[in-house]
Amino acid sequence: MTAIGRGTTFAQHLHLLLMRYFPALLLVATPLVATAQRPKTGMMPPVIAALDAKSAHYADVAKQIWSFAELGYEEVKSSALLRRELATAGFKVDSGVAGEPTAFIASYGSGKPVIAIVGEFDALPGLSQDASPDKKPLIEGAAGHGCGHHLFGTASVASAIAVKEWMIANKIGGTLRFYGTPAEEGGSGKVYMVRDGLFDDVDAVVTWHPGDRNAASSGSTLANIGAKFRFHGISAHAAAAPDKGRSALDAVEAMDNMVNMMREHVPSDTRIHYVITNGGKAPNVVPDFAEVYYYARHNDMRVLDDIWDRITNAAKGAALGTGTTVDVDIISAVWNVLPNEYLSRLMQANLEKVGGVTYTPTDVAFAERIQKTLIGPVPPVSEAATVAPFRGFGVTSASSDMGDVSWRVPTVQLSAATWVPGTPAHSWQAVAAGGMDIGAKGMMVAAKTMTLTTMELFTDPQHVVKARAEFDKSRGPNFKYHTRLEGRKPALDYRK
Ligand SMILES: [Zn+2]
Ligand SMILES: [Zn+2]
Repeated sequence: MTAIGRGTTFAQHLHLLLMRYFPALLLVATPLVATAQRPKTGMMPPVIAALDAKSAHYADVAKQIWSFAELGYEEVKSSALLRRELATAGFKVDSGVAGEPTAFIASYGSGKPVIAIVGEFDALPGLSQDASPDKKPLIEGAAGHGCGHHLFGTASVASAIAVKEWMIANKIGGTLRFYGTPAEEGGSGKVYMVRDGLFDDVDAVVTWHPGDRNAASSGSTLANIGAKFRFHGISAHAAAAPDKGRSALDAVEAMDNMVNMMREHVPSDTRIHYVITNGGKAPNVVPDFAEVYYYARHNDMRVLDDIWDRITNAAKGAALGTGTTVDVDIISAVWNVLPNEYLSRLMQANLEKVGGVTYTPTDVAFAERIQKTLIGPVPPVSEAATVAPFRGFGVTSASSDMGDVSWRVPTVQLSAATWVPGTPAHSWQAVAAGGMDIGAKGMMVAAKTMTLTTMELFTDPQHVVKARAEFDKSRGPNFKYHTRLEGRKPALDYRK
């Protein structure tokens, strides 16, 4: 830790920082406005008061995106709204990057360092839900923000705008970018942006994810490869002329059998799951087409690569044995997240300054009703007000295209309590809290923490140097990034 010594109080540290970088502001420093997120001690920089002053505006932006609930690569209105916020704030905005119409990069400033803040905004199918503590879809079967990406995109934009205003006020050099990244949920939106070199000159990435707790040691994820295996056979009458047919469904079943036996001979922390998306139309017609959609996951892409080759061989073997042919269409491929401890500790210190989410009595009543609908033990509601201690890095069994970014650029993330403690992601309870004040307040914890962290990256060049040194060591000397999406275009219609 360089900027924030363990033995230094926040007030002392802030005073030193202000003296060093913007002494004029010491004279006009605004006292912290009493709001839902109270720091534990001391006075916060003016940039935090500025974020507090705009919290109602950002809550409105997030609520609009929550209402749009647009699926991956279809986030037309959500992307436009966030771009408008950034353009109005004076960012230069490039839209439709990496062949993705809803992806964009907003930038301000020039030269080094280049610090990027990342935001997502896609929703999930079938999770439509009212902002209510009872399960009540707004539109039956429609999409909903079960992963909180409406808060994700909005808080990241809020942070980028706050940092830009601070850079102008204090004549801070360097480049600030905001990456608007679509289709995180199964569309691998960021992978194409990484593949096309859009992150190549970035020194550090700052981001977050909605969750049910406040923590900066969120750790790694599982690498995940997803593909549709399409088998082609020959149709014939299934009773009168079965010998003339070659069943594509037989091939799917043969492949599934082989992969299910393979489970015994892969590392036990591997996850493999599939659905048969087309198994033929009628029992009396030998199916000439069948399709199975697979995901395979492991916490190390280099291990998963080998497992994936074996799954592909099972498909080829199944085709050979059943007299059919197979095409493999890789839809998604994301790396496990590479954590950066140095940056995470920096983020943790800032998260501790910002503090957690303070619930009003109305929030507590909502939270207690939500918790009654959750399965299994739940943490106390009061946990939302706390910050989890730094505890090293675990692995969550989810996957994210942030993984690919994290192997290209030193990346730091935090989780902020936008959901009632105990709420799982991708649930109606997450959609409900995300549409309430609880979600908006949690989002501002993330916006403030990212802002303080990004400011530190701009003001002390040693942070980037140290983060990079750890990054190089973690990747190893001969690391070369690759993606199985190398040769393809973004699957813009994957939700159709
Ligand atoms: Zn998700
Ligand atoms: Zn998510």
